[in-house]
Amino acid sequence: MKTITILSGKGGVGKSSITASLAVLLARKYKIVTADCDVDTPNLGLLFGIKNFKNLKKVSTNYKAFVNKKVKKCPNVKKLSDVCTFFAISWNEKMNIPIINRFLCEGCGACKLLCPEGIELKRVKNAVIGQTKTKYGFYIVFGQLKVGESGSGNIVEIIKERTRKIAENVKADFIIIDSSAGIGCPVIASIRDSDFVIAVTEPTPSALRDLKRALKVVEHFKIPYGVIINKYDLNKKFTKKIENFANNHGIPIFGKLPYDKSFVESIVNLMPVVVYDKRFERLFLSILNNVKNNLDKIYNKNL
Ligand code: SF4
Repeated sequence: MKTITILSGKGGVGKSSITASLAVLLARKYKIVTADCDVDTPNLGLLFGIKNFKNLKKVSTNYKAFVNKKVKKCPNVKKLSDVCTFFAISWNEKMNIPIINRFLCEGCGACKLLCPEGIELKRVKNAVIGQTKTKYGFYIVFGQLKVGESGSGNIVEIIKERTRKIAENVKADFIIIDSSAGIGCPVIASIRDSDFVIAVTEPTPSALRDLKRALKVVEHFKIPYGVIINKYDLNKKFTKKIENFANNHGIPIFGKLPYDKSFVESIVNLMPVVVYDKRFERLFLSILNNVKNNLDKIYNKNL
């Protein structure tokens, strides 16, 4: 079983849309399980036509600080706001007590060290996770961080654990992970033990700069990777620049996708573009073929 993570340095370049099409085509030949690890903005399920996940389970990966009645007796009570480097604690003159802003609190526990009796650290339910079978025959595991909550990296770990269990049960050949964009915690957690990464970009200066930053993270984990250029025909000159960058660094480009209104229409109609518009099947199959050839070469076997 191999895990392929699809990421993008910059958001909005078409990562989830491309993931959905690759997954549907891959599932025609292999057993797969998909995981939406873009926990801030999880939309992969929508592209498979899933509007709501049922039986969502609340999960907790984070702590928050709460003041109790004993806080007034703490000799250091007025120093509490100084120890909080997240600026989560303010002083309420009228009530003569510290106030903790739960959206700013990161649960680090520094305030509890200062006032052990008057501060309580409590586990909070900061996300929901769920799973369902798509109409394309494979499972998707989904997770969503609650608004204003932190701990996204840990949520991704829980999603991946659940995905792995399902993948083992169904004897999957591939796990396909749709990561967040960027270079933060959820991205690091998504790619950490992947076998392969596909980075999606588009021909704009910001996308190329963000791609380079994301690839540095992938290289840190020594995971092999390749690139897909989306909407390449919107700026062919810049596409050439990305190709030159890839060639100079020995990075394989698995394919270039054109800008086409079918991509937008497929999203509106909650389906992968390869299902919505059959013209794109061949292009995505050639991308998959390039990915597979690369994987075979790296892992020295015919997967
Ligand atoms: S737990 Fe940490 S982040 Fe939260 S209020 Fe206390 S010091 Fe601030």
